Amino acid sequence: MQPIQVHMFPCLSDNYGYLIHDAENDLTAAIDTPSAQAIEAGLSAKGWRLTHIFNTHHHADHAGGNLELKAATGCKIFGPRADARRIPGIDAEYGDGDTFMFGNHPVVVFDTPGHTTGHIVYYLPEDAVAFVGDTLFSLGCGRLFEGTPKQMWNSLQKLMRWPGDTVLYCAHEYTQANARFALTIEPGNPALVARSRAVDGLRARNEPTVPSTLELEKATNPFLRPSSPEIQKAVGCDGNDLVEVFARVRALKDQF
Ligand code: ZN
Ligand code: FE
Repeated sequence: MQPIQVHMFPCLSDNYGYLIHDAENDLTAAIDTPSAQAIEAGLSAKGWRLTHIFNTHHHADHAGGNLELKAATGCKIFGPRADARRIPGIDAEYGDGDTFMFGNHPVVVFDTPGHTTGHIVYYLPEDAVAFVGDTLFSLGCGRLFEGTPKQMWNSLQKLMRWPGDTVLYCAHEYTQANARFALTIEPGNPALVARSRAVDGLRARNEPTVPSTLELEKATNPFLRPSSPEIQKAVGCDGNDLVEVFARVRALKDQF
């Protein structure tokens, strides 16, 4: 099996668009549809034909291009079962633990409620890549628009069980602002300090900070680190209740 090909490109002000391609079967999926135009440009740059859309959640910067792309290409739209009514043009619904084949590539779906009630992520175990939408960002996590801290912490813990070398593709370039916040609550984490410098360097050259790996996120992302004594001290609670630590980190970030 050839590894899945990933084509990544900026969309809108700070989204990333992704096309994944199975060359052996000539299949191409867009992960979310922030901009139909940008996705069409990506397709023609690669010479690929759109066959699928995999939506993570209903927000307009993720599903806004669905109908235009479906009308232009006849592609099939996959999305969250828990939120099917809010996904324009959905053809097939997926939820926690569902597996399907994208050509030769197994894809496993996880429900990750928190940012929205119906958010899902797509994990390709044999390719060691995952598309995590607005659930987990580099050094951050999605805002809790529709879910509770407990739901989001449970969702993040599902992702934390993947192998450390899993490559994480998130939907936004938020890393530099996330790093500035992270340093306010865990300045004594040398891995975070080093990563923050690296992120500043990449952004100064206008280069993406995405993707990252699960291992790197576990070492540096404050939303995956409620067990850190330094973070617990910074948010003013001990580690007996990791949901409470997570909730306070999320609340501080919302005010940052
Ligand atoms: Zn969103
Ligand atoms: Fe978004």
